[in-house]
Parts: sequence; C-alpha cells; structure tokens
Amino acid sequence: MKNVFIGGAWPYANNSMHIGHLAALLPGDVLARYFRMDGKNVIYVSGSDCHGTPITQRAQSLGVSPEYIAKHYHEEFSKNFNDLFFTYDIYSNTMTLKHKTNVQNILKEINEKGFLFEKTELNDYCPKCQKFVVDREIKGICPVCGSEANGDQCDKCLTSLTPEMLKDKTCKICGTKTILKEDTNLYFKLSAFEDIIKTYLDKNKQSWRPTAINETQKYLNQGLVDRAITRALDWGIELPFDGYKDKRVYVWIDAVLGYLTTCEMACEEKGIEFPEFLKSNDTISYYVHGKDNIVFHTIILPALLDAIDENLNKPQKIVSCEYVNLNNDKMSKSKGNLITVNTLLSNFDPDSIRYFFIFNNPERKDCSFSLEDFVLIHNKHIVGGFGNFANRNLAFLEKKFEGKLPKVNLDESIVKYVTNTYTEIGKLFEAGELKTACTKLYDYIQFANKYYDTNTPWTFAKTDKDKFDEITSNCLYLMANMSNLYSPIMPKGCQKLKDILGVKENDWKPVCYDESVTIENVQVLYQRLKLEDIDMSKGAKDTLNI
Ligand SMILES: [Zn+2]
Ligand SMILES: [Zn+2]
Repeated sequence: MKNVFIGGAWPYANNSMHIGHLAALLPGDVLARYFRMDGKNVIYVSGSDCHGTPITQRAQSLGVSPEYIAKHYHEEFSKNFNDLFFTYDIYSNTMTLKHKTNVQNILKEINEKGFLFEKTELNDYCPKCQKFVVDREIKGICPVCGSEANGDQCDKCLTSLTPEMLKDKTCKICGTKTILKEDTNLYFKLSAFEDIIKTYLDKNKQSWRPTAINETQKYLNQGLVDRAITRALDWGIELPFDGYKDKRVYVWIDAVLGYLTTCEMACEEKGIEFPEFLKSNDTISYYVHGKDNIVFHTIILPALLDAIDENLNKPQKIVSCEYVNLNNDKMSKSKGNLITVNTLLSNFDPDSIRYFFIFNNPERKDCSFSLEDFVLIHNKHIVGGFGNFANRNLAFLEKKFEGKLPKVNLDESIVKYVTNTYTEIGKLFEAGELKTACTKLYDYIQFANKYYDTNTPWTFAKTDKDKFDEITSNCLYLMANMSNLYSPIMPKGCQKLKDILGVKENDWKPVCYDESVTIENVQVLYQRLKLEDIDMSKGAKDTLNI
C-alpha cells in the first residue's frame, strides 16, 4: 500500500465548531501527518457543508442570505483548522462551482444507469407561502406526547418524526395551516444496493469500532429504503433535469459527494491521476467522523460510489467516535453549555488541545471534558513529561558546557527501544488506535525521564566527563526521537525541539541530534497552566454579529 486517502467529515456551516466536532476530526490530521512521515502519497481532504434547511432557517431568522451564513462559518472553520495546524491538502466547501458541476454530472451519470426514479406523492404545501414545506419548516402536534413539535423531531420527548406523523400541521414561516398537494421528487434506488453493502460490511468491519458496525447493521436490518435526492428549497445545488426548478439537491447527497470533488482537486494539484487514485489496490482509505455520521460513510457513500463506478474503492477504515460530554453532562445548544473551538484557542496552546483530545479521544465510549482534567493533563504530560525532559537536559548543557553537545555514543538497548517504539506506534496509528498510541508515547517519555533519573548524568559532570557525555548522548537521542514520534500529535513544540537539536529529517524512523549544533537561550517549550488564568467566556459568544 503506498497511497492513503483520508476524508475528514464536513462540518455544517450554521454555527461555530465545538469540542465534539474537534474530537471527531483531529484523528484525521494525526493520521495524515503520520502517513506522510511514513512515505505514503497522502490525500487528506474535507470542507464545509454549506447547504440545507438549518442554514436557510438561520438566515431567515437573521434576515440575511443563506450564503452569508455559510460563508461566515466556512471562513471561521478554515481559520480554526489553520490555528490548530490541520494539514488538509484541500479544505473546500459545497458552494464551489467545481462541486456543483461535479454533483450535477454524477447525478446525470447515475440517472442514465437507472439508479434514479421519479415519485409523485402528497406533500405538505403552504398556500400562503405558495411552496412545499419540508420537515423542519413544519410545526404540529407530536403523536407521542401531545406537545408542539417540528416535522423532524419532537424537542419535548425527543422522538424522531416525519411530517405525516404530526397532527394540526402549520407552516413555521407564516403560521398558515398546510394542505396536502401532489409533489414530484427524484429518488435514489438505495434498496438496490442492499446485498452489495452487506458484502462490503462483512469484508471491512473487522477494523471498525463496535458503534460503526452496530449502526450500519441496524440500518441494514431495517432494510435499505430508497431516498429522495431532491428537496423543496431554494438554497443548494440545482438539479440537472427538467421539472425541478423549485427543488435543490438534498444536502445528504451533496455533502458526501464532496469527498470526490476534493479528492479530484487534490489530485490535480499533485499531478496524480483521478479517479485512478481511488480505484487503485495500492490505495487505502480512512474516513474520520462522529457517530451521528456513520451510516453516511458506511451505507450511503459506498452505495453512491458503487452506482458511479463499482471499481471505486469504498471506505475501508471507518474511524468513528462517540460524544464529548462536559463535566459528565451532555452538551447541547439548548443547554447553552457547548464549548467552542474558539474558546479553546483563546485559552490554550494548539498542541495541548490536540494532545488532550487524542489522549482522551471518545473512540469507544463518550469522554468527558473538564477544565481540571485539561489543566492536569497539560501540566503533567506536556509540561512535566515532554517539556521537562527536554528542558532539564538542555538547560544543564547550556549552563555547564556552553551549550555544546556530546559526540553521538549510543547504547544498543536504547537504540533498540527507540526503533521498536516506531514500529509499535506506527501499527497503532494505522489501526486507528490513536488513543492507545498516545498512552504508549507517554510511556516513552516516562522511560526517558527514568533513564535520566537513574543514570544521574549531573553527578558525573565534574568527575567523569566521558560518562556524562555517554549518558547525555543517549538522552539527546531519546529527545530527538521524542520530537519525531510526537510530531503527528504536537507539531509545533516538536518542530521547535527538532530545530534546537538540528534534526532535519521528517520520516517515520529513528533520527539523531546533530552533534555540531550549540544550544543557546534554552526556554521552556510549554508554559504551566493555572486554572485561575483561564477565561472560558472568551470565544464563547456567537460570532455571527449582524
Ligand atoms: Zn413529543
Ligand atoms: Zn407559509
């Protein structure tokens, strides 16, 4: 395998990103960085999901265009990812002309193959607005608890609903009673792919997390149902067929096809053949997202890919994750307790944020975020472990030996330990076991600090310079490799340390410090955090100030 495709989920552009999104997306960047170091051709893509009803509703309530909202958050997401050192090859959005053309061409193609069909049914229509109203635009009485509910969900009893289940339906926009009127929509024959998806699941699920397998199985057990690909909206991609002027492409299909658009863009930039890249037996794919997104990647996308061209690789590694809670309580917009990425970036070093959400990643069960935990992990692992190992060695060399480094003189056992660590961590990354990889990396730091403590180099500085040099050489070697091994997770501090030690290589294999460099102006790599200095109200406000 020499090619790796990594698709990060597309965040929905109607609100700031919160820590749940971040925990779901970060593994993608760690994998991309690791595979690049390992010499693979990596294509890592994502973008903002900019169409759909939640955005049009937000736009209506603020009296602005949907495009204004989508652009605002797309720009904010792009900045967030930059500030967190994400290394997407392409971070795009679903509003581009390229994507629009791509989606329209794909729809024409799968229509010619017979995978789309028209269906006329009775749908809710608002006589005053003179348009069909979709689930989120309808209010009515919940059949379960009798409260007022939306067409897609009852917020009171949390039952998932469809508009036909509601009684006394009215249009949310104007309050008028809706009527039923004949409406024609286009459908995708998802049911035709049931056997293909079952075979696909059996072939790939061994490496998936239990929730990904269960969600997919649950969906398959209910039987795959054909899905409407058109929706009565004026915000989205126009249909390339006659008779659909008042409809747009449904956002579920528009967003998942973004992987193809952005992969093609990245291939163009890198001079790689597309779609051959996605067909090759030499390409492995990773799809990274939260659990609410699983079936879009394990059922919908594989079925669409099969419809387009059965030789396109279907998603192989599904790196899904659970939810992030706040102090063991569910986070939600209605509770007002969402912690935004903006708030984290206003208070913390990006390396710490990345480390915390990989070390605590909700890979198999929900994780909880608390400020106390964040401060503790930062101070213990990053400052006390990583930073301290570098600082105690470097500061001593600067103070006692004018910053001159000893000749490279390594213990065989240390070299072996370091070499094995690369193999072990590499395997964990490839298996998507990032959290375990992070724990093993912390073991490495503890090993390094213990080596320093047991060998007490400082006691030989005056009495036995050879012995001091030998121990210090091993410490510097451990440090150089620490900066290499940690760089997929904490890129900024690792690069700083590499620069100090004269490490130029960026490959997934043992590196050594450059004995000709001189250490000067040693400063701590990471500052200790104090709870009282943190202000979580920073960056918490909605950024859409109109
Ligand atoms: Zn209800
Ligand atoms: Zn109306």
